[in-house]
Amino acid sequence: MKIHIDKNLCTGCEICVNHCPDVFMMWGMYMKADFDVAHPEKYQKAVRETAGMCPKQAISID
Ligand code: SF4
Repeated sequence: MKIHIDKNLCTGCEICVNHCPDVFMMWGMYMKADFDVAHPEKYQKAVRETAGMCPKQAISID
């Protein structure tokens, strides 16, 4: 499971970081726009929920 954050759309609201910090701290702390999710079986549901919560739809999942 790979995540891409569109830096041009993101406003830095941190909803994603607050909702699923284990995964999205890569973005919140390191501004890493492309990263793999470790243990996708554990985080799949939370990641998809989080992507749906992004007010700018800046989160893509592969
Ligand atoms: S929820 Fe969306 S807009 Fe907010 S910080 Fe995360 S990626 Fe950026």
